[in-house]
Amino acid sequence: MANLNIDSAKERTFDAIVIGSGISGGWAAKELTDKGLKVLMLERGRDVKHIKDYPTTNMYPWEFKHRGELPMDVQEANPIVNRCYAFGESAAHFFVKDKEHPYIQTKPFDWIRGYQVGGKSLLWARQTQRWSEFDFEGPARDGFAVDWPIRYKDIAPWYSHVEKFAGISGNKDGIAELPDGEFLPAFPLNAVEEYFSKHVKVNYQNRHVISARCAHLSKPNQIHLDQGRAQCQERTICERGCPFGGYFSSNASTIPWALKSGNLTIRPFSVVESIIYDENKGKASGVRIVDTNTKKAEEFYSRIIFVNAAALNTNLILLNSKSNRFPNGLGNDSGVLGKFVAFHNYSAHIGAEVEGFEEWATDGRNPAGGGYIPRFRNVYKQETDFLRGYASGFSAYRGFKHSYDGFGEDFKAGLSTKEYGPWRVGSHMMGETIPKETNFVKLDNSNKDAWGVPLLDISVDYDDNDEKMKKDYIEQLTEMFTSAGFKNIQPSTNHQAPGLDIHEMGGVRMGRDPKTSMLNKWNQLHACTNVFVTDGASMTSTSCQNPSLTYMALTARAVDHAVSESKKGNL
Ligand SMILES: Cc1cc2nc3c(=O)[nH]c(=O)nc-3n(C[C@H](O)[C@H](O)[C@H](O)COP(=O)(O)OP(=O)(O)OC[C@H]3O[C@@H](n4cnc5c(N)ncnc54)[C@H](O)[C@@H]3O)c2cc1C
Repeated sequence: MANLNIDSAKERTFDAIVIGSGISGGWAAKELTDKGLKVLMLERGRDVKHIKDYPTTNMYPWEFKHRGELPMDVQEANPIVNRCYAFGESAAHFFVKDKEHPYIQTKPFDWIRGYQVGGKSLLWARQTQRWSEFDFEGPARDGFAVDWPIRYKDIAPWYSHVEKFAGISGNKDGIAELPDGEFLPAFPLNAVEEYFSKHVKVNYQNRHVISARCAHLSKPNQIHLDQGRAQCQERTICERGCPFGGYFSSNASTIPWALKSGNLTIRPFSVVESIIYDENKGKASGVRIVDTNTKKAEEFYSRIIFVNAAALNTNLILLNSKSNRFPNGLGNDSGVLGKFVAFHNYSAHIGAEVEGFEEWATDGRNPAGGGYIPRFRNVYKQETDFLRGYASGFSAYRGFKHSYDGFGEDFKAGLSTKEYGPWRVGSHMMGETIPKETNFVKLDNSNKDAWGVPLLDISVDYDDNDEKMKKDYIEQLTEMFTSAGFKNIQPSTNHQAPGLDIHEMGGVRMGRDPKTSMLNKWNQLHACTNVFVTDGASMTSTSCQNPSLTYMALTARAVDHAVSESKKGNL
């Protein structure tokens, strides 16, 4: 961190300010500094330096006091974050604990957060698919939300731009609904995954089981080595932080790159309270922060502001940025700020056993997690009684046949057997949800956090469309598993609250019409054009593909526009 000995407005002025240091903020900082701008990155959490601040990254299982589990008192004190599969002893220090940062759940919502330099980029599962034309044309075609102001062709070159730098492994599968990218070699499917892939190819039209695409350096290029990163070692303990930089995180990639330029100043422990609007100039002039150590309010100024605090916190900051011109939140002439929040529906799974394949076993690890089944419902035409569709994860594995019988030596022998059990397969649903005005966030004006910022009140729920989609997923996957000869098929659905998919989006949506949307096609606030929102808040609809690659591409695209407009004197 640069030494901020600042006492004059001039010293508190930068060319650009980036709010948040996670996946999208890291990209904003990298692109802006690459173009020569002096950038201040404001981050509410502590600093996390690559490698140095990954305390568990090289620990063996037996070195953890609780062998990787969290003690009951920690679990009970954190009912929300404890529902996240990655919240364990090895990575708990990167998650927000429930009591530290409260919010109001008018409807149950599991808000999973990582407040530190790097944000959730340290924790994510690194699944990275492009969205397709079917996603960007979706709302207009199917009559929901508002039309995206961009199409696939507008973002395609920017996907290429970020993929080359981040490093995405995958195959060129030639599927229109899941466009190919600039890939490093894919992690291969195992024998049973390969079998299912071939079975589906032969027996189904427009259904595919492919190697999952993920942000791992399966075979680094020079640009990755230049970042100080190395080949993924397939350790699959990524949520601890990777000392090899084997997967993409802001900490391993974009932030050190931007720092190397000499143009980036990072200020951790800085909660952005609001964006300052200059009524005379008709644009934003800077941001107000609260220093979390001193509790002192401070201001920083810039010509360009990128808001990348992650979807719901970005909503909060804009809602809290009130002025005479914008009494209901910055840029909120339309009244849609905070509304049309959507997410992904991960509430259905299916498992089964597989006979045969006894000459094969799973040895080693696959950081991509196995296979991916792109959306096949309602792609080329509407064919069901629900809108849109779902992608599915698919993986197969074979573990040892453990026995828990006996005592003493017998018990130990049963546990340590090297005899394999049967193959098992599993899949989970990743459904698109429809953004609706009734799914919204707002400020709770009677409760404030430790820094005087109003708490966020979340009112987001599933609907009938989600229930129908879930039923269809179970029916279709059961049918596909049956046809493949899988046995003992066990579908399951749960009633997890929205949020646990950790893909919340919307509230500051892009659109063509300022009367019904917040952002234009360049992610600029229609009504305050030097403020850019390029995280999940800006999403008009959610696709069913993972979203973070799209945030990266939109961010790089928006920076390019911001800098070129700035050079023309338009910002
Ligand atoms: C376990 C897990 C698995 C996931 N798997 C995937 C996956 O496979 N694929 C995928 O695409 N996505 C995945 N995600 C989601 C992915 O992590 C997010 O989409 C992504 O990190 C969002 O990037 P962001 O920049 O918007 O937010 P973040 O990465 O969350 O960064 C936001 C930053 O802003 C800071 N901030 C917030 N408020 C303020 C404020 N007021 N002032 C200053 N700073 C602030 C935060 O502290 C944080 O550092 C996963 C997430 C988790 C936790």
